[in-house]
Amino acid sequence: MLNGKSAVITGSTSGIGLGIARALAGQGANIMLNGFGEAGAIEALRASLAAEFGVEVAYNGADLSQPDGGGALVRDARERFGAVDILVNNAGIQHVAPVEDFPPDRWDAVIAINLSAVFHAIRAALPGMKEKGWGRIVNVASVHGLVASANKAAYIAAKHGVVGLTKVVALETAEIDVTCNAICPGWVLTPLVQAQIDARAEREGIPVAQAGRDLLSEKQPSKQFTTPEQLGALAVFLCSPAAANLTGASLPVDGGWTSQ
Ligand code: NAD
Repeated sequence: MLNGKSAVITGSTSGIGLGIARALAGQGANIMLNGFGEAGAIEALRASLAAEFGVEVAYNGADLSQPDGGGALVRDARERFGAVDILVNNAGIQHVAPVEDFPPDRWDAVIAINLSAVFHAIRAALPGMKEKGWGRIVNVASVHGLVASANKAAYIAAKHGVVGLTKVVALETAEIDVTCNAICPGWVLTPLVQAQIDARAEREGIPVAQAGRDLLSEKQPSKQFTTPEQLGALAVFLCSPAAANLTGASLPVDGGWTSQ
């Protein structure tokens, strides 16, 4: 379905971004990977995706905490592939602390990577999409773009911002075949969440498996983690002709979390 299209997925060396990259590659899209990690492991990942799916896969390690990170990433993908048809803004970090103890440098980093980088990348990618008359922007927000939890001030402010930005971009592109939507996952078992489970296990003196079950029970009624594969399938749907008139939406994939 996406043969000949090119996709940039930020933060795709791990977790949800990698799941989305695999799903888009599976539909024939060329892929620009981004994110941190050990150089040898990233090259092995790049080569294995290219071999498995028979598409071009490139890597650009732009640091999205920097204002020009997203722009540089999009420009590089356009030079290599000729276009950026699909932009998935997925990179994100977390910091957990009460507001009064929240370190200002962590606030700045979370806002820069989880929110400002989304703006910078969209700003760089949109002119090319408008010129071609086709584009898909998928922002990986979170249930925390829709509801709040304690101790995550910067993350929740950033993700609510992403949901708002998604709506603005959808309105500005409403009359052309460019859509902009947000995916709002509940708990997904990735390194980002594993760190929170490990911290909980240590804090409460309980086994890690128990901490994982407690984490789910607290918020996610299905008591199942959403998987990167499920989110990849949703991203593919958002890039399909069936979703051409689906824009500005924030789609929870949260086992009922936000229905409570
Ligand atoms: P992860 O830690 O597995 O992956 C994060 C990715 O972002 C990695 O590839 C990392 O290298 C990259 N990254 C981090 N800082 C970066 C920077 N400065 N520049 C470029 N890349 C950077 O986390 P994940 O759980 O897969 O999270 C992906 C997205 O999904 C995030 O936006 C996160 O907020 C969101 N999300 C995650 C969950 C969850 O339960 N895991 C739930 C809702 C939303």
